[in-house]
Amino acid sequence: MSEKKYVYTFGGKTAEGKADMKNLLGGKGANLAEMCLLGLPVPAGLTITTECCTDYYANNCKLPTGLMDEVWAGISVVEKNMGLKYDDPENCLLLSCRSGARSSMPGMMDTVLNIGLSSKTLPGLIKKSNNERFVYDSYRRLIMMYADVVMEKAEGREPAEGVGIRKLLDEKLDNYKKEKGYKSDTDLTTNDLKYLSDEFKKEIKKQIGQEFPDDAKKQLEGGIMAVFKSWNGKKAISYRRIEGIPDEWGTAVNVQAMVFGNMGDSSATGVAFTRNPANGANEFYGEWLVNAQGEDVVAGIRTPSPLNNDTKNEQNKHLVSMEDSLPATYKELCEIRDILEKAYRDMLDIEFTIQDKKLYMLQCRVGKRTGAAALQIAMDMLKEGLISEKEAILRINPSQLEELLFPILDSKDEAKQTVIAKGLPAGPGGAVGVIALSCEEAMRLSKEKIVSILVREETNPEDVEGMRAAAGILTARGGMTSHAALVARGWGKCCIVGCEAIHINMDKKTINIAGKEYKEGDVLSLNGTKGFVYAGKVKMIDATENPVLKGFMEIVEKYRTMGVRTNADTPKDAQNAINFGAEGIGLFRIEHMFYGENSEAPLAVLRKMILAADTAERKKYLNELHPYIKQAVKGTMKVMDGKPVTFRLIDPPLHEFVPQTEKGQKELAAELKISFEEIKRRIDALHEVNPMMGLRGVRLGVVYPEISETQFDALFEATLELKKEGCNPILEIMVPLTISVTELKHQKEIADRVQAEVEKRNGMKLEYLYGTMIEIPRATIVAKQIAEVADFFSFGTNDLTQMTFGFSRDDVNVIISEYKDKKIIPADPFQTLDTVGVGGLVGVGINFGRETKPDLKVGVCGEHGGDPASVEFFYTVGMTYVSCSPFRVPIARLAAAQAAIKYEK
Ligand code: PEP
Ligand code: MG
Repeated sequence: MSEKKYVYTFGGKTAEGKADMKNLLGGKGANLAEMCLLGLPVPAGLTITTECCTDYYANNCKLPTGLMDEVWAGISVVEKNMGLKYDDPENCLLLSCRSGARSSMPGMMDTVLNIGLSSKTLPGLIKKSNNERFVYDSYRRLIMMYADVVMEKAEGREPAEGVGIRKLLDEKLDNYKKEKGYKSDTDLTTNDLKYLSDEFKKEIKKQIGQEFPDDAKKQLEGGIMAVFKSWNGKKAISYRRIEGIPDEWGTAVNVQAMVFGNMGDSSATGVAFTRNPANGANEFYGEWLVNAQGEDVVAGIRTPSPLNNDTKNEQNKHLVSMEDSLPATYKELCEIRDILEKAYRDMLDIEFTIQDKKLYMLQCRVGKRTGAAALQIAMDMLKEGLISEKEAILRINPSQLEELLFPILDSKDEAKQTVIAKGLPAGPGGAVGVIALSCEEAMRLSKEKIVSILVREETNPEDVEGMRAAAGILTARGGMTSHAALVARGWGKCCIVGCEAIHINMDKKTINIAGKEYKEGDVLSLNGTKGFVYAGKVKMIDATENPVLKGFMEIVEKYRTMGVRTNADTPKDAQNAINFGAEGIGLFRIEHMFYGENSEAPLAVLRKMILAADTAERKKYLNELHPYIKQAVKGTMKVMDGKPVTFRLIDPPLHEFVPQTEKGQKELAAELKISFEEIKRRIDALHEVNPMMGLRGVRLGVVYPEISETQFDALFEATLELKKEGCNPILEIMVPLTISVTELKHQKEIADRVQAEVEKRNGMKLEYLYGTMIEIPRATIVAKQIAEVADFFSFGTNDLTQMTFGFSRDDVNVIISEYKDKKIIPADPFQTLDTVGVGGLVGVGINFGRETKPDLKVGVCGEHGGDPASVEFFYTVGMTYVSCSPFRVPIARLAAAQAAIKYEK
């Protein structure tokens, strides 16, 4: 035996593990142990630790010495528990072998069922079960799974697309059924299954060159190894990359006594959620299939029946519920649901099997859910007294909130359209996009920024990347609990499954719905909350005023301590942000008035100013610009009445504003009354090799002080005008791209002079805060001096990331995706703050600044202000507030409250 304990048994009402041992036993293993401890009916088994998986990989894909001895010792405990014996000719125990990582990776790794069936054990099992058909059905399943998972995938055989052993055996099965005129697997007779088992074995020998093992011991060892191998299978790796699951975690292997849902009509298998995972309703929600094994439910081969009558829907209302068909077992399952929810205090996803009316629990885990469901469940459980306010806050992943703010189909427009097909509502919200019939196509379209709907025959875990790339997912087959439906729901992606009206023709690249053909590239609209499909484009709207969200955010506010502002530059965005709970504006980019709606007139003046021949001409155009700036400033400040608004002086390199086309340049030349050659000359003179490091930010104000002067004047005038109108404007001005205190002083002198003039002109005093952005590494180092002049700092982490990494913000995408793939960086530092490097500088900047001014107000206004992980970091370094785009305000508020709760101690 090895020094480490690799094997933990469970069964009866005892277990060596428990729920909080997920890191070692994986989610499945820990929860199986916990269910035993809760006294639930769980088939006995053992869990091989995740540590063993790590050791297996460290050991060149060899099982640690002594592991199998430990496994066999564990199996004898299982045998005692079940009253059966592995590899016994008369009373044989069969085993399943399943994966189970720390965090669930639905369908991404492999499973082998019915291990232990061999020529030695088949006759005894037939005698004992008195059900030869069932035994051969189990046997052919073992052969199919084992060949695929153990003999092909785990051995690294990579057959060409479509000729994998599983596919070949499936085809054999389908052809045989066709020949015999059978509709379903259940039509196959004992003799058919016997014949097929033999045929499968021959095919395996032919394709793989090896015999299917008839030795039970060898079968188990192969199964264990194959599960470890599947940790590094293609789909598992893709899923980990998307979900950010570390490669080092490894998977556990659960070896468990088989129970059979395919023993006849009093046997069944099912999957359920203790509450509705799509909308969070407190109803037992699940699917079951009579005379089937678990793989049949999740694979989406047969349409499952509803668990109970209350949750029937359009698609399955004709099917018999478990509530009606097996009332006593259903009642027992309901009791288990209550026990589990009380113990776990969360919504769970469970798997069960009924063997001849006896119920067995095979799995429970915290259920994946949409953002809407997460919110509803947290608020309900709070009311039910199951969880505390703090727990309710921590239950919602901040990025899940985004789903609730995401658009849905406009119900008015939707009512005017005809539903062309209906499916199961597997993922929420709405999606409008062009049809993509393959994952490759969805990924290609996404790269071209074209929104797509991925339409597939069935939900398939191998499709994760394509599913990710599409805005919505539509499948012809599969149930609400099919693996990909789970995955889509976990992402909060609009998804409809089991839409049987769809017929896909991959050769023609079309889909046919009720006799009408739609091509790849045609537009579809999905209502993922109802399961409705529309042809063409249905209008989308924002999901507004949601009372549950409001109630939740009120609780969030009780715990949040760090401020949340918004980056906004229009009255509309400002109002939106206030509705989402913003406490002020942390970044108003003045230059944004030259983009977008109503920008033509000010942009025309700005261009003339930029291309002016001399200072006098520049000043002339700046005077013309003044009223526009004042108006823009006033509009937003008015909406933000009583809340601080931080205006940032014009920052970008000026050449960004000049016309790029010859036509535009000619028109401008005419307006300026100069020749085309002259305007070309002036535009060329603005050219810089590294514009991001060139004449921008505060440098503009140093080189052309009159540009700063006009902005100060307009800002001060706007503020005093609002005061005169009885408003309460709270003005803050910040200087971008500062590298030294002398720059700040230089600009402050201009501001002071202009202030005095404006005050005199208006006969009124003005108050405002004068601050700076900190977005160049040097500024963080000299922050102590900068704080002598600055009333506040606002960290521009976009530029700070650019300047710290030396990555150009505008061109770095290719490098970043390569770096991420090659694991050189863990994440895109422009999305999630690099806490070690850039974050280190932020910390340095804050500390130095507060050496000079202990109460110095510090905020962040780069994109990271709306990224939950970054917000948590900003909390830990003592940031006064974060500022983000209006839609991210609720996310930042939640992330800030969660940080406050997490770091309370
Ligand atoms: C920043 O650099 O983080 C910032 C907010 O400024 P901008 O994105 O406008 O450069
Ligand atoms: Mg910047």
